[in-house]
Amino acid sequence: MLGQQPQLPGEFELIADYFAPLSKGFPGAFGLLDDAAIISPASGHDLVAKTDAIVGGVHFEPDDPADLIARKALRVNLSDIAGKGANARAYMLDLVLPHTTTAAWLSAFCDGLAADQNEYGVHLIGGDTNATPGTLTIAVTAFGEVPRGRMLRRSSAHADDLIFVTGTIGDAALGLRVLCGELPSLKTKTAASLVGRYRLPQPRVDVGPLLLDVATATIDVSDGLLADLGHICEMSGLSAVISTNDIPLSPAAQQALSADRSIIAAIVAGGDDYEILFTAPLGAVSKIDEISRSTGVPITMIGRMEKISPNIETPVTLLDPSGTPLKIGNRGWTHFGRL
Ligand code: ADP
Ligand code: MG
Repeated sequence: MLGQQPQLPGEFELIADYFAPLSKGFPGAFGLLDDAAIISPASGHDLVAKTDAIVGGVHFEPDDPADLIARKALRVNLSDIAGKGANARAYMLDLVLPHTTTAAWLSAFCDGLAADQNEYGVHLIGGDTNATPGTLTIAVTAFGEVPRGRMLRRSSAHADDLIFVTGTIGDAALGLRVLCGELPSLKTKTAASLVGRYRLPQPRVDVGPLLLDVATATIDVSDGLLADLGHICEMSGLSAVISTNDIPLSPAAQQALSADRSIIAAIVAGGDDYEILFTAPLGAVSKIDEISRSTGVPITMIGRMEKISPNIETPVTLLDPSGTPLKIGNRGWTHFGRL
């Protein structure tokens, strides 16, 4: 199909020129010259699979730099693999390219993938390529491995477990607001650091596998802190109480929040953080500190899991600094009951 387009070579040249080099070093990819690939997990391991698509105008802007789009498409999947305690090994790439795609764009896109393959030790092992009159869409399927039977689940938190999160929360959501022309009070450099977090997630690949020894339940934060903690609650049959005071914020997010307190809604509900949220018993705290020290990734305790109470409206309670529950609605927050 793409052969009809002057901008790009035919489909098979495209695969040979752009994608096959990214499969080098992974024998089961067969140089992208066969119909399918083989992944053999190390003995005693399970294969963990995850797919996520990103769509132009929804998860990124079509005129964002091509290499960053590629890296985001890959990283959002690596984040899920890490969040499950697994080590990523390979990925597949389904591309739906607008007819207007140029060779320069695809070349930059593949350079982005190559850079992240180096950074994360993964290889491209297959995919599919189609042309469209519509929107650029990129689906990555990532594969990782985890010791057999040990993949970390959402469903295994216990009452009284503590709740932890890596890194900082809210930066990507605020970065998106900056791109939409909001948060005018921020200095250019501060605003740029937030946009950077939106465009290029930092999946916590070093922390994830180390959580196998400490975490009871995990999820990576993509929908938003409240929503994703809600998923752990629902799957574990529990409630959670967290406090705004404890949520780790970058200096940039702190600045945005002190200029406008209502920004807390975007921070806790905005999503795209790609941090790992997990629960662990009190007895695991010193091991968690050690994981934070050895990886250089901050890990912050933000609350506690509780038995579910009968009249509960929603499972996650967010307390403001005075200990009053906050309600976060789509249009901001008010002091009101449980979330
Ligand atoms: P088929 O004709 O069986 O559908 P294709 O011609 O689509 O196969 O693909 C040929 C080979 O190229 C396969 O190994 C496939 O996995 C690989 N491939 C196609 N598109 C991509 C892509 N975007 N990224 C990586 N590999 C790709
Ligand atoms: Mg085939």
